[in-house]
Amino acid sequence: MRCTESVIQPKREICGQAADVLSKIAASNERAGCLVEKLHLLFYDLCMSFLDWPAEEVLPSRRAQQHRRRVVSELFKRFHQAFPEVTYELLWESPTVNAQAWRLGSAQYVRVYGGLVRHRAISKYGLALMLAHETGHHLGGLPRDPDLRWPTWQGQADYWAASEGMPKVFGRHARRLTLRGAKEIIELHRDFSGDEADVTPDERLAIFRAGARGEIVPTCLQTAFERMMMDQDTRKTVETRIGRSTKG
Ligand SMILES: [Zn+2]
Repeated sequence: MRCTESVIQPKREICGQAADVLSKIAASNERAGCLVEKLHLLFYDLCMSFLDWPAEEVLPSRRAQQHRRRVVSELFKRFHQAFPEVTYELLWESPTVNAQAWRLGSAQYVRVYGGLVRHRAISKYGLALMLAHETGHHLGGLPRDPDLRWPTWQGQADYWAASEGMPKVFGRHARRLTLRGAKEIIELHRDFSGDEADVTPDERLAIFRAGARGEIVPTCLQTAFERMMMDQDTRKTVETRIGRSTKG
């Protein structure tokens, strides 16, 4: 789940108390196999609905919105040509700042929400890399998300996006587009402190860069994966202990 802006930024303070509650709600969705899969973006989105923030405040001009819509439509065509097994869909009217990979039986989908497409921090470069990342959740191989099992894990989806997804769609232009897109996504990521994502902004940047430059998987990808697995083990141990003490 998940995107930036100085416009939203000041509202973070207002959200303070709602953060814990919303984070817990978001945590249950966090493993839903998203893109920008950023907990805080869902969080902000919920916050916006929750606190009834004026959505108009972060909207670009009507003309700019139409341009964005054309851009994403063109990107969908390119990605569909490269990956015909994946269905790309846009929920333009949705204010949600998010994108997701999901599936129904054997059918594979990538869904992009209007709030992300219209977001000021993201241009066609970030959108393209985001689509490649979401596609990577379907086609990126191992390691997979330990909870959902079917999606490629977040860090690997980033590496696949940069090393295989983008080159397949954009050919010799892929490297340049990926490096620009990575900057946008990382900046977005950095804007939100307290992010509990599996991969830090610095790690994501290193992974995107390595993939774009044709380098082997960077060690930080493995490190992030192991850290995430350890965190998960710790969480399970605590939950088990709490379960036992509750029963007792
Ligand atoms: Zn993701």
